[in-house]
Amino acid sequence: MKAVLIQRHGGPEVLEIADVPEPHPAPGEVAIKLEAIGVNYIDLYHREGWYPLSLPTVLGSEGAGTVIEVGEGVTSVSIGDRVAFANHLGAYAEVVVVPAGRLVTIPDDVTADVAAAVLLQGMTVHALVNSCARVEPGATVLVHAAAGGVGSLLVQYLVRRVASTVVATASTAEKRTRARRLGAQIVTDYDGFVDAARRLGGVSVAFDGVGRATFDGSLAALAPRGMLVLYGQASGPVPPVDPQILNRQGSIFLTRPSLPHYVATPEELRWRAQAIFADVAAGLLEVTIAERIPLEEARRAHEALAGRTTVGKVILVP
Ligand code: NDP
Repeated sequence: MKAVLIQRHGGPEVLEIADVPEPHPAPGEVAIKLEAIGVNYIDLYHREGWYPLSLPTVLGSEGAGTVIEVGEGVTSVSIGDRVAFANHLGAYAEVVVVPAGRLVTIPDDVTADVAAAVLLQGMTVHALVNSCARVEPGATVLVHAAAGGVGSLLVQYLVRRVASTVVATASTAEKRTRARRLGAQIVTDYDGFVDAARRLGGVSVAFDGVGRATFDGSLAALAPRGMLVLYGQASGPVPPVDPQILNRQGSIFLTRPSLPHYVATPEELRWRAQAIFADVAAGLLEVTIAERIPLEEARRAHEALAGRTTVGKVILVP
């Protein structure tokens, strides 16, 4: 089968399309023929070597498709079921094998493209808002990169589900227009967000997936006792922090969450997935597919994400 793998860490040039043996499920596992593969920023971190991986490996952490083979003892899904997964390496391929407990069933009214576009980022939003920061109705919240994958879902979720006031950032006028259309009430570039937040008395939560470039500003934008949720590092890793800074900013909280810790059991995974799929089917969350790119052109997908040219989600098609 076709797969995109890396033999070493580096830039997009290390992505290779290769013919590899089709995997078959061990007991407790399921083989899925993929129809759509989600491209996430974590794929770039994996490629670059920010997280330890044993090489060579097939890249990619999210996909949707149809069950073609089930391992011994699997009763939760059957051949022919439409399923999706997130946070499982090996997605940039025609077939992937995933533990049955990591799969979610795709409802009939959600397409495979949309499932692969929304599952990982949607569950991230669900976890960040409901379980990590526990945003209160009416709270004022900062969202960076608001036209991106996670950012655009965060804005919609906060405005429509939690009735938050959202201060949003994005780098271009086109992206800022999109953030406004999704419901963000105050939208700025990266130079204006601290002032915008301070004019409102500070935000109670800052959601920051940009990292190094925005971290100090996100801290400065918080109201006393607010929380900085540093959930990514698209601009690079944040240098070490002196805990005393949390005191100086007004007894604030800093957390660095990761989705796998918030979908730690099959029950929690399915709860978040079903909630997000239901919001998508109800039209509450709009999923924008920025581009559908053939699997063979995975390099182009990575260049687009790193180059900040995407609005919404990029998916690969095997
Ligand atoms: P996006 O589609 O949001 O793409 C990243 C965006 O970051 C860009 O579009 C860009 O928007 C912004 N950005 C700001 N500075 C830079 C820079 N120097 N280089 C590149 N981009 C920059 O990607 P995702 O939705 O996939 O991921 C967003 C963030 O969420 C990432 O940091 C990712 O790691 C994190 N994440 C974390 C998870 C977790 O479990 N903790 C789970 C899922 C995602 P603009 O041009 O407007 O600045």
